[in-house]
Amino acid sequence: MRLRVILHSDLNNFFASVETVLNPELAGKPLIVCGDPKERRGVVLAKNELAKRYGIKTAETVVSALKKCPHVQRVSTHFGDYRYYSEKVREIYERFTDVVEECSIDECSLDVTASQRMFGGGVEIAEKIRRAVKEELGLTVSIGVSYNKIYAKLASEIKKPDAVTEIPYGKKEQIVYPLPVTDLLYVGKATAQTLSAYGIRTIGELANADESLVSRLLGKRGRLLRKYARGEDDEPVKTKQEKDEIKSIGNSSTLPASLTDREEIKRWFYVLAESVTGRLRDADVGRANTVHIVVRDDNLEDKTWQTKVTPTLLCSDVAQTAYKLFCENWGYGKPVRMLGITVSGFDHYIEQMTIGDVLGEREDYKKKERVEDAVAKIRKKYGFSTLQRGVLFADEKLSGLDIRKESQPRSEKPKIEEKED
Ligand SMILES: [Mg+2]
Repeated sequence: MRLRVILHSDLNNFFASVETVLNPELAGKPLIVCGDPKERRGVVLAKNELAKRYGIKTAETVVSALKKCPHVQRVSTHFGDYRYYSEKVREIYERFTDVVEECSIDECSLDVTASQRMFGGGVEIAEKIRRAVKEELGLTVSIGVSYNKIYAKLASEIKKPDAVTEIPYGKKEQIVYPLPVTDLLYVGKATAQTLSAYGIRTIGELANADESLVSRLLGKRGRLLRKYARGEDDEPVKTKQEKDEIKSIGNSSTLPASLTDREEIKRWFYVLAESVTGRLRDADVGRANTVHIVVRDDNLEDKTWQTKVTPTLLCSDVAQTAYKLFCENWGYGKPVRMLGITVSGFDHYIEQMTIGDVLGEREDYKKKERVEDAVAKIRKKYGFSTLQRGVLFADEKLSGLDIRKESQPRSEKPKIEEKED
């Protein structure tokens, strides 16, 4: 068996560190990054090590942070700078391997298996990267080294900031198994609670748990988490090109007759959106940030329009956006022969933290996403037509109509549950 050598690199206190690099006067003092530093009702988006020592947490209000530390320095966000530094760090990674996967703006997975002859073993490469990032950019990273992605990520959390930690093959019982199960990627609060009711509190307890028990508690996802706990993760580090392979997902339909009635047209957009978002879910490429429509008129001439949206997986978002695009661009009363919706701009579940996320503005979205997750599950189990969208009830022909094309193969990767910072 040939073991892989995987690195997981995590920039420490990334936003606050970039702010300090750009403004060295901030160094050595507690610092928070917030939406608007003058606005006391704002929230903390990031903080440095010193602010952490005062007990300041991400997403708490500036007022509350000021109570904990009245002299904390406040700066506003500069996402352009964070993106710039994120790319500079990536360039350093790419000196050692071209197999780099961006997990988020401040985290990457690297496969350095083939780089060892040139640069030394995993730990040696990690040390070289750690030093280069510090010397050249003034930022620090915590790097985990192991033989799979999950353990490398876990190792990167063990010691920080500015550190390299290895979980070597054969050492999982000593290093990994005593850790709380919540340290495992993809195990959030809800999952931990379920497991804890059955006495599973450490990663080792999950690894050694009866497979059928875990499967009964958490389904297919449970079996996968148990494999991860055991270090049996063979998921490859995916380069950007591989992730970008699926660039768009779309569906179109010739209408049974030329339509002019806007309500009818709207229902067709829902049917199409249902099919497109169903395939989007199955493809597991994350949420889409662009909706395109194509409309064919009576002269068989096609027109297309597109617009950006807040990244979404929701049928209702896609249908409403498509219909709005249509209403804004298509002459009233002009007949329609064919309609199509395509979505693109997938985020691959990269959680780009936005101010809206921290403020909880996306809570409502997440609720809707959970509802649609449940709908998708029921349909998988009992058939597509068991659940129908209210908007389609008005039209018997469309109610229960499933025009989904053959689905793309589904990756088994579970979604990330929310974790404490
Ligand atoms: Mg980080």
